[in-house]
Amino acid sequence: MVESLLCEATTCIHNASKQCTAPSINIVGGPTRTGSDTFCGSFSEDENLILPDTTNFVMGVASRGDQYTADRLTEFNGAPAIECNAVKCTYNDSNICYATGIKILGQEGTAKGSTECDTFRPE
Ligand code: SF4
Ligand code: SF4
Repeated sequence: MVESLLCEATTCIHNASKQCTAPSINIVGGPTRTGSDTFCGSFSEDENLILPDTTNFVMGVASRGDQYTADRLTEFNGAPAIECNAVKCTYNDSNICYATGIKILGQEGTAKGSTECDTFRPE
C-alpha cells in the first residue's frame, strides 16, 4: 500500500501543496515498459480555481492564511488508494500499486497526459 505520494501537478484540483487529497486515483499505463507513457487518469484541472501561494507552507500550516489549503490538508489522511493498469511495472500486482511511496511528475499548467508516474520501474 502506498504510504506517501508527492505530486508535482499543482494545477490539479486534488493537489494541495504537492499532496494528493483525492481518496483514490487511477494511474494509466497499460502494457508500457516506459514510465513516460504513464499518466494520472484522475488529474482534473479546474480553470476557475485560484491556487494558493504555498511558498511558505510548513508542516501542514499555510503561513499566509491560506484557508483553502489548510482545510484540505486537515481532511487529508495520507496517500490515496492507487489503482494502476501499468501491468509491466514491478510495483503492480493485479492493478494495485504496492510501492511504499510514489512521485507523480507534472508542472503547473500541465494537462492530464503530461503527468507521469516517476516511480514506474519495468519488471
Ligand atoms: S494529478 Fe493525480 S496524483 Fe496528482 S493531485 Fe491530481 S489526482 Fe492526485
Ligand atoms: S509505481 Fe508502478 S504500479 Fe505504482 S502507480 Fe506507478 S506505474 Fe503504477
